Amino acid sequence: MSLRIPLVVGNWKMLGDFASNLALLDGLVERSKGSAWAAIEVVVCPSFAHLAQANERLRGSGISWGAQDVSDQAAGAFTGEVSAMMLRELGCTHAIVGHSERRAFHGETDTVVANKAQRLLDAGICPILCVGESLAQRQSHLTEAVLAHQVDALVGVLKNAAAPAVLAYEPVWAIGTGQSATPEMAQSAHHFIRERLRAGGVDAQAVRLLYGGSVNASNCAALFAQPDIDGGLVGGASRNPEDFGSICLAAVRTLR
Ligand code: PEP
Repeated sequence: MSLRIPLVVGNWKMLGDFASNLALLDGLVERSKGSAWAAIEVVVCPSFAHLAQANERLRGSGISWGAQDVSDQAAGAFTGEVSAMMLRELGCTHAIVGHSERRAFHGETDTVVANKAQRLLDAGICPILCVGESLAQRQSHLTEAVLAHQVDALVGVLKNAAAPAVLAYEPVWAIGTGQSATPEMAQSAHHFIRERLRAGGVDAQAVRLLYGGSVNASNCAALFAQPDIDGGLVGGASRNPEDFGSICLAAVRTLR
């Protein structure tokens, strides 16, 4: 049996406003009360602007909250940036790093992603490190080469970390498209990532690997049943408390 506690993370992207997020947060707290969610870890990642609200509504609920990004700098004259220590003050336990949208629209390189991971680990925050290939790369049979490159850039940080980080395999072609990877494709990529971490000297059995890319209430059970998939990074479906609740319960069922 796996010693890794399943983890489900909601990525709220740049969506919502104070009122709709309030309803969503309260809906999640209501659903979590007395539910089997306690057996797993559940995290939501609103925008920076809504982290204080998450802190206020989720504190004591058993649901954790995290950010969608962090600065690669510790502190200083970096206008517009948010540091890992600031996230810690807001009660964040996790932060997503290297999401494909940040890699594509903000030029985040593997080196920047590794530096951000280090900042988070230094602040006692668990990084959720996103990797994944584009459609063109998959079609050119480059999936494993791309993953190897992205994972290798992280092993130096991960093998010296005091606590295990989380990696999310998110094929770019599956994000927000409604076209999820099949469980077999996802398992194969996850297995490759775990073996690559192990080869790099990381305690790979302790690292949770999440699948992300059009996870929904219907496809999550088959994905989470795969031996190297330890939960999900959920975008669109995390904005619906009913769907997100079903996804969390599917993760709980993998424990039986
Ligand atoms: C994401 O934003 O990380 C994501 C996986 O989105 P979606 O679930 O909507 O594909």
